[in-house]
Amino acid sequence: MELEEMKKVRPIKDIEKYWSEPIKLDCDTIQTAVEDIRILIAEISNLKQLSIKAGKEIKYLRSCIVDQADKQIEINMLKEKLAEAENGICEWVYDGNYDYFITSCGNDYCLIDGTLKENLITYCHGCGKKILEKSVENN
Ligand SMILES: [Zn+2]
Repeated sequence: MELEEMKKVRPIKDIEKYWSEPIKLDCDTIQTAVEDIRILIAEISNLKQLSIKAGKEIKYLRSCIVDQADKQIEINMLKEKLAEAENGICEWVYDGNYDYFITSCGNDYCLIDGTLKENLITYCHGCGKKILEKSVENN
């Protein structure tokens, strides 16, 4: 087939079905279409790489979020413990008749000598809370 003849505009019947106007292809049109397809393939490949990169970034960000959530849980637990330590009080009631303390956490303590303050006892040995010293009313 002569080049000039190939270049001659001719309709393609299959494509005609899908278009209201018949599409006419010549060598230049085909060349342009081939170039367009090459560009599209390059763009698709580029998009695939971007997608892989985005996927990795999403994975990384997800792991950061999980780390942050774990840290937040730990912070909340420490906050609770701190609040408990700050607010929690253990009552040590001194019974002068028997010379011992009974604590609100259910323990008994007696000192060999001196007061709690003199013995530098500020926190309960049983529960770790700050001691609030009370005296039993002697009848
Ligand atoms: Zn206690």
